[in-house]
Amino acid sequence: MGDTAGRRGLRAAMEAESREWLVRCPACGFERSVAEMGGTRYKALGTKKRFLRCPHCRGFGWHTIYRSGTGVRLAPLRPSRPLWWHIGALVGVLLLFFVLLGGGFFFILSRASAGPRDTTTAYFAAVGAGDWASAHDSLSAARREQVTPANLAALWETQESAHGPVAGFDTTSFSVKNGRARISGKLRYRDETTESRVVQLVREGGVWKIASAP
Ligand SMILES: [Zn+2]
Repeated sequence: MGDTAGRRGLRAAMEAESREWLVRCPACGFERSVAEMGGTRYKALGTKKRFLRCPHCRGFGWHTIYRSGTGVRLAPLRPSRPLWWHIGALVGVLLLFFVLLGGGFFFILSRASAGPRDTTTAYFAAVGAGDWASAHDSLSAARREQVTPANLAALWETQESAHGPVAGFDTTSFSVKNGRARISGKLRYRDETTESRVVQLVREGGVWKIASAP
């Protein structure tokens, strides 16, 4: 029996407190209590914001929920904004978020590929310039044992006889995993013909070196 009385007392206390919590429109200052809105707020602290439509001015906005008599400092009234303005602002924030997220990913990916890509472009630049010592230096230890700078010169002179010297290399995709990298791209010749190339790289002594056929 005492239990039922206790429960009734609690409900009365919750209703009383819910009448003290006010929901205030940021545009016109119209207030109604949480109890009037059919809600309950009990043993809560601080203030809360909720996006609502005001029954008085009919504007949409972030209403402040605060407990009366606690000396809460309320923000000055601001003109109400139409619903589309709020939706537009939300879409804008989301767009900005995704642009930043995309930018972050791009930054991380381009950093991951920077080492292997730099080695690949440097190698093809050396080939284009006929700098066979530098081109040879871009190769892995195992490859350097198989080919000499003179071998490289002979190999590429055959390739370049048809299209002119190598003009550059454009990466189209890459992957990096466990100290190995794979770069796909287009090798450009002076006469503007292109050739698909896949370059395999290994990390040797902290530097990326070309491990595939030169
Ligand atoms: Zn209002």
